[in-house]
Amino acid sequence: MKIIAIGRNYAEHAHELNNPVPTVPVIFLKPDTALLRDNKPFYHPDFSENIHHEVEIVIKICKEGKHISEKFAGNYFDEIGLGIDFTARDIQQKHKEKGLPWELAKAFDNSAPVSRFLPKNNFSNLYNLNFGLSINNISVQQGNTKDLIFSFEKIIAFVSQYITLKKGDLIFTGTPKGVGKIHIGDHLEAYLETEKLLDFYIK
Ligand code: MG
Repeated sequence: MKIIAIGRNYAEHAHELNNPVPTVPVIFLKPDTALLRDNKPFYHPDFSENIHHEVEIVIKICKEGKHISEKFAGNYFDEIGLGIDFTARDIQQKHKEKGLPWELAKAFDNSAPVSRFLPKNNFSNLYNLNFGLSINNISVQQGNTKDLIFSFEKIIAFVSQYITLKKGDLIFTGTPKGVGKIHIGDHLEAYLETEKLLDFYIK
C-alpha cells in the first residue's frame, strides 16, 4: 500500500506557514514504513529539533482505479479515519529554500500515525465534519471539512490521473491551522466529531 498526502488543503493553514493557497493540489508520498498504528507511542527521532503535528482526515481507498472522474470518485473510498502527518519542519524549511523534495521531512519512520477507520456512511455529511487534536488536554487544532480547498472526490480524481490508486491506499487530506511542535512526554488525542480515534504519547 501507499500513503498519499495533500499539502495546503486548508487556506488558514497555508497562511500560517506563509505559503500560497494552491490552485492545484500539492501532493507528496509517505512509504508504508511511515505507518504507526494501534495508538503505539511515537519515539521522537534525533534528526529534528522541530517536529510538528498535523492532524488530518484520512480516507481509505476501497478499489483500484485510474483516471477516475470526480463524479464517480465517491465510489473509491468507503472509510475515513484520522492521522497525524508528522513533519520535521526544520528539515522541510531548509529543503523548501533549496527547492529540494520533502521526503526527509515527511516520510520518515512512524511519521504517519493512523487511527481505526469508520464507514463513511456513518456520517450524514462528509463536508461538515469537525475534527481536532488536543495535546495534554489542551485543544491545539480544530478543523471542519467544509473548509477543504479540494474535496475528497477532487483529490481522488486529480491523483488518479497520475498514480493508480489501489485498495488499501490511504490519502491524508490536509491539516487545518494550529500546527506546532511536539515534545517528549506529550499526550496526543484526536477526535472526529465526538469520537476519540487517536490517543498516544510522544516518547
Ligand atoms: Mg499535512
